[in-house]
Amino acid sequence: MASASTRKQCAYDGGCKQVGVAYCEGCTRSFCGIHFNDHRRLLNEELNFIFSGCNEIKDVLNQEKATCDSHPLMKQIDDWEKQSIGNIQQRAKELRQQIILLATDHRNELSQRLQQLSEQSNDALEHDSFSETDLRQWKKIIEDLKANLTSHATVGINQHDYFPGLKNISLVMTMSKELFDRVSDNTIQIEQNGQVATCDSSVNHREIRGRNRYSSGVHKIRLYIEQAEQFWMFLGITSEPTPLRHLFCSAPCTYGWSNDNNIWTNGQKCRNSSNNIIEMKKNDIVSLILDCNNRTMVMINERTNRKYELSVNTANCPFPWQLYLNLNEANSCVRILPT
Ligand SMILES: [Zn+2]
Ligand SMILES: [Zn+2]
Repeated sequence: MASASTRKQCAYDGGCKQVGVAYCEGCTRSFCGIHFNDHRRLLNEELNFIFSGCNEIKDVLNQEKATCDSHPLMKQIDDWEKQSIGNIQQRAKELRQQIILLATDHRNELSQRLQQLSEQSNDALEHDSFSETDLRQWKKIIEDLKANLTSHATVGINQHDYFPGLKNISLVMTMSKELFDRVSDNTIQIEQNGQVATCDSSVNHREIRGRNRYSSGVHKIRLYIEQAEQFWMFLGITSEPTPLRHLFCSAPCTYGWSNDNNIWTNGQKCRNSSNNIIEMKKNDIVSLILDCNNRTMVMINERTNRKYELSVNTANCPFPWQLYLNLNEANSCVRILPT
């Protein structure tokens, strides 16, 4: 038992002369009876502070739960939703209008050609001034118009995945099948109903035109180089009304590429200065993509996977555009493939 002299004084902060009789484990201090009670009361008050802190947080959480719908980000998400739906509706409207325009263009073009043919044939009847050559030509036009009527320009949808569930789409137009139609001289023959063009054994610049006329939309033509021994060839487009000629170099309406690594635009030949060497060899499949809307054309060699792009100045090369090939070497042969 501790004597009075060894007993500790009450640890009350306000200064108490009494001897400590109760020991607090928490703060390892002794207090007199009165101040020990005070000490416990202060600790209780601090505990109450913890309780009220808990309640305060609980209240805020409950409030949060009730006001979850008015989260500040909700409005941003709502805006994004509205804008996205609006964009999709706008795009759908544009695409519908594009289809209507494409169909109308197509119908007008056919009507125009029909009108032309009627006028020519009526005139010929009136003056009795037609021959087998005219009849052959007109029959060909009739066949061509019929083929375009039944399998008229079809429009495909191109889908691009941006993220799952939402696709962006655009239209790709597939004209009735492209075929070879006209040549500049008889050293080249069109065979297999227009699918193949074959040169004879002479060396000569000869021009081959496609049948289709391209004025709007995006179109793809695939060509297979079936026979060629180191031959020179040109692939591209020209403006449809341009007369056929052997040497096209000076024609400003000719746009395309030759496999001696030259680019042809505005009637000028320009050496391809990029590392992307222009190649067209035997057994190559070459695609030509004509984008009338953006006035550009792209050539892709499927073997090398190389891509070449040209802008077309429609002041020099007005619509309608036509497929245009020029083959120089003997016995070379090119085939149009299905797209
Ligand atoms: Zn204590
Ligand atoms: Zn005390």
